[in-house]
Amino acid sequence: MKAIRVHEFGGPEVLKLEDVPDPQAGPGQIVVRVHAAGVNPVETYVRTGTYAFKPNLPYTPGADGAGVVLKLGPDVKRFKDGDRVYFTATQTGAYAEQALCDAAKVHRLPDSVSFEQGAAMGVPYGTAYRGLFQRAQAKPAETVLVHGASGGVGTAAVQLARAAGMTVIGTAGSEQGMKLVKEQGAHHALNHSSAGYLDELKKLTDDRGVDVILEMLANKNLANDLTVLAKKGRVVVIGSRGTIEINPRDTMVRDAEIRGTTLANTTEQEYREMYAALGAGLENGTLRPVVGQKIPLAEARYAHEEVMKPSGAHGKIVLVP
Ligand code: NAP
Repeated sequence: MKAIRVHEFGGPEVLKLEDVPDPQAGPGQIVVRVHAAGVNPVETYVRTGTYAFKPNLPYTPGADGAGVVLKLGPDVKRFKDGDRVYFTATQTGAYAEQALCDAAKVHRLPDSVSFEQGAAMGVPYGTAYRGLFQRAQAKPAETVLVHGASGGVGTAAVQLARAAGMTVIGTAGSEQGMKLVKEQGAHHALNHSSAGYLDELKKLTDDRGVDVILEMLANKNLANDLTVLAKKGRVVVIGSRGTIEINPRDTMVRDAEIRGTTLANTTEQEYREMYAALGAGLENGTLRPVVGQKIPLAEARYAHEEVMKPSGAHGKIVLVP
């Protein structure tokens, strides 16, 4: 099969399309014929070799994908050949024509959901669900600010929060992004490139502030976030690409909390709950992953450049073998 291989850490140019042996399914495993693979910012960090997780070289990037079941381990009874599925982890890498997966990380893809949409489920929806429910413990009737709502995680968070009965405010860096955020169910959209945009929150919340902030760029926003929280408000740090100075006093006057999150810390029980909820959302149509760009697998390098562009996100970028 064809797969993207990384033989040395570095820039996007180290992503090379090569021939590699087809994977085989052992006990508890499934080989999926990949029709679409999700591209996440974390895969660019790992590629540079400076991230906390450093794979052995050579490796094939990617954790998220969707396609059809090609080979089943002898003891795997939950699926049959040809079933439409998506997966959230793979032992051999998702940027490939086939992916070897632990059966527990493979989920049924409803007929109404495309393979490209299925490839947007793993990291983005998992992170949004974890941030909103498992870390922020957001509740119906609370107000949530999704700070960076136009990308993979943000669009997922807006859909999840809206479906759960929260008041949702989302930000994007462009008019097109704000339109997208409203289309995903946000009650209000703000432009994080405009000066003073957070001042709007006073009016939108009748001076109360927001109960929960899901933060995609904490190194830029955390100090301001702490000033727009309601009493007992929570900021969940999902993304951060640097350091920032904050005023701790802003947390004191509100009994506020800053909570970090990393998807990799999800326990098995949390994972089961997450995918029971996300699977139900896909089936009943409240979750509709937004695919902004479909890029051929051979052009993975271009996909890594696109996903790290500082603005103009539009849902998910996927690779198509
Ligand atoms: P993405 O699809 O590239 O989206 C990036 C988002 O950040 C866009 O909505 C973008 O908006 C927004 N953004 C840009 N400038 C911003 C600003 N000044 N303030 C607020 N938002 C801003 O990336 P993603 O997959 O959604 O991931 C978002 C971040 O979370 C990344 O840093 C990623 O590494 C991190 N992440 C962390 C975990 C975890 O486990 N903690 C898991 C997944 C992702 P515009 O383009 O419209 O300006």
